[in-house]
Amino acid sequence: MRSETYNHIPERVLMGPGPSDVPARVLEAMGRPTIGHLDPFFLSLMDQVAQRLRAVFCTTNAMTLAVSGTGSAGMETLAANLLEPADRALICINGVFGGRMRDVAERCGAQVETIEKPWGSVFDQDEVIDAMRRVGPKLVGIVHAETSTGAHQPIDRLGAAARDCGALLMVDCVTSLGGAPVRVDQWQIDAAYSGTQKCLSCPPGLSPITLGDRAVEAIDARRSRVQSWYLDLTMVRHYWGADRAYHHTAPINMLYALHEALGIVLEEGLEARWARHVEMHERLKAGLAPMGIDYVSDPAHSLPMLNAVGVPKGVDDAAARRRLLEEYGLEIGGGLGAFKGSAWRIGLMGHAATHRNVDLLLAALSRVLG
Ligand SMILES: *Cc1c(COP(=O)(O)O)cnc(C)c1O
Repeated sequence: MRSETYNHIPERVLMGPGPSDVPARVLEAMGRPTIGHLDPFFLSLMDQVAQRLRAVFCTTNAMTLAVSGTGSAGMETLAANLLEPADRALICINGVFGGRMRDVAERCGAQVETIEKPWGSVFDQDEVIDAMRRVGPKLVGIVHAETSTGAHQPIDRLGAAARDCGALLMVDCVTSLGGAPVRVDQWQIDAAYSGTQKCLSCPPGLSPITLGDRAVEAIDARRSRVQSWYLDLTMVRHYWGADRAYHHTAPINMLYALHEALGIVLEEGLEARWARHVEMHERLKAGLAPMGIDYVSDPAHSLPMLNAVGVPKGVDDAAARRRLLEEYGLEIGGGLGAFKGSAWRIGLMGHAATHRNVDLLLAALSRVLG
């Protein structure tokens, strides 16, 4: 491929399930000179990234870092470090990502029990708590923002209940972090992972994680080595911690990008950012209703940043999305899993959650749908 081909990468408005639009400031940060992964300047930048991540996760957890890999790498890191073969895990499934969590936990050799809910609905927290008491797991895994269905799972009471039964609570907040409250300390979440390319508005490539004291104790008490060398926190933590021991080369420029992206999140302020996501969601919803477009998830538990709506009757799903992309440069997502072909997933994530984008999408959709 000749180099000029890359000059023709199109500009898009990313309103799908991620990646979302990346502000120029973040791309510029990424383009700064690569320096060594043990350069003192870089090490202090890493410390600042960890500090900013603590602020965004609403936690004081010492073990807060960015895993080298996308959101799924964060899921795999926490499962591989917190679970040992034959440990019991309880996984809550109401969409694609809960299903992926089960798959990952099983591959760690855990004995996995699941509870399931229809797609688009959420678990009543008491159902999850009852299941915890019945199963007696070492780890309970749940998805806070199910990107495949648009459902916003309440989780504020699960951490205390997990503590009561001696279980660890692991939360997937890949899509919620930076777009809706994720109060790790207040909700007593033991371990959480996220991704950079959703509401943090950074390119994909890193997975922020945070682990509380009980989770770190569980890792320290392991009888077996972590089965993944690359994702082994007993080693990775020495690079992010005071020893600065080389484990693998950090993705330097991605960390510049995350540093900048987190700076933007904190400049706006978490509360203001969460409120902006709700406001844009309401604006979109109010514009879709007169077009006869309804949500496929429980309306009492809609995610602000991921609007899963039914494809209107008689409309060709793929053709409509192709026209949005080709004629308006707008990307929205198709349905995933059970919703394949029948739902659209409209993302309002981070930098992309603006009046301008909502109104552009509504105007473009009304043209495309005639
Ligand atoms: C996007 C997403 C993931 C996976 O992240 P990748 O960056 O695609 O690996 C996991 N969980 C949820 C809820 C997601 O939305």
